[in-house]
Amino acid sequence: MTVLVRSRRVVTPEGVRPLGVDVVDGRIAGLRPYDAGGGLDLGDVALLPGLVDTHVHVNEPGRTHWEGFATATRAAAAGGVTTVVDMPLNSLPPTTTVPNLEIKKKAARGQIAVDVGFWGGAIPGNLGDLRPLWDAGVFGVKCFLSPSGVDEFPALDGDGLTLALRELARFDGLLIVHAEDPWTLTEPTGPSYAEFLGSRTQDAEVRAIETVIAVARETGARAHIVHVSAGDAIPVLRAARSQGVRITAETCPHYLTLSAEEVTGTAFKCCPPIREAANRDALWAGLADGTLMGVVSDHSPCPADMKSPGDFAMAWGGISSLQLGLPVVWTEASARGFSLEDVVRWMARGPADFAGLAYKGRIEVGADADLVAFDPGAAFVVEAGDLAHKNPVTAYQGRTLRGVVQQTWLRGETPGHGRFLTRGAR
Ligand SMILES: [Zn+2]
Repeated sequence: MTVLVRSRRVVTPEGVRPLGVDVVDGRIAGLRPYDAGGGLDLGDVALLPGLVDTHVHVNEPGRTHWEGFATATRAAAAGGVTTVVDMPLNSLPPTTTVPNLEIKKKAARGQIAVDVGFWGGAIPGNLGDLRPLWDAGVFGVKCFLSPSGVDEFPALDGDGLTLALRELARFDGLLIVHAEDPWTLTEPTGPSYAEFLGSRTQDAEVRAIETVIAVARETGARAHIVHVSAGDAIPVLRAARSQGVRITAETCPHYLTLSAEEVTGTAFKCCPPIREAANRDALWAGLADGTLMGVVSDHSPCPADMKSPGDFAMAWGGISSLQLGLPVVWTEASARGFSLEDVVRWMARGPADFAGLAYKGRIEVGADADLVAFDPGAAFVVEAGDLAHKNPVTAYQGRTLRGVVQQTWLRGETPGHGRFLTRGAR
């Protein structure tokens, strides 16, 4: 056996340990005492499992000028993310049928630097495609309850949601839901951030989440709420989970670390919106007690001109953070007294378990040797032009962040040869 790398701070599911990591055929074959020597010695630089980001909009084919597989997966690797699960919309065609999934895989083939899995989509009229998509290896299907922003991916209405969950319950599939209630959302009355925020209230999120909980309860199906922004949703989710409803939820780096008070431009526009500073505490509490399964990026870029400077009503909604999620979250988490183990649970093991990827997101024997050398004490200033994202637009421009990704390994090697991940297979 050969030791690939060792560190005094290896973050394992059992705690932070001084260890060396043996790698054979791309998997972690053994863990040995740090002092046994060998391999690359990171010293006090931490060794984390590669992060698992289950919420990424790659947009290729069709809108590759927004983001493509080559740029997205290189940015992921640079940010310590070794597994990406791609969203079904904003690419053309959307991933709402098996033939469309094949078109997307064909576009991605040969370009992916890290491992990539796919979500399917649930839209009006494709109920009969959900089982074939599941059998083709998607990790679940996504739907919207309010307009998605692109015409080719319409929202499900109440009946559509019930039918989709009833269908998914037949094979224990998973529905992931963009939950904002269309009847509670309003049109912004003007171009300012205050007007945009006022048009998408916490109440809109909470009502939609209550709807999903009710149908999940009734059908017994598994449902997941993507990008929870409203702190008021946390007690609602907590109560449903305690009653045995099969519902999980995620939040994103921007909701945990940015606030409405500090929005300086349309780079901060996303749906649901970034809310007032006080709202963040409830989201952190939801992470701390496990109501939220983790933190994923919702990386959703677009060309700079679509960010309509100065007009929040017109600007495309989406925040780019695939490459920055780890230092963004670590900066705030460490200030709030959370540990590196917490961050790894939220950004690696949690999302991996949620997607059924038991061999990802953890440093233990048998898992893929996806690893990240991370210096938690170093700092850097974000410069959009330095990022590998296709479009240099970021809400974190000019921020000083804690934590530097020094090196990333995918199955024990330099990232570059990613594989497609299929639900239930390895
Ligand atoms: Zn999204």
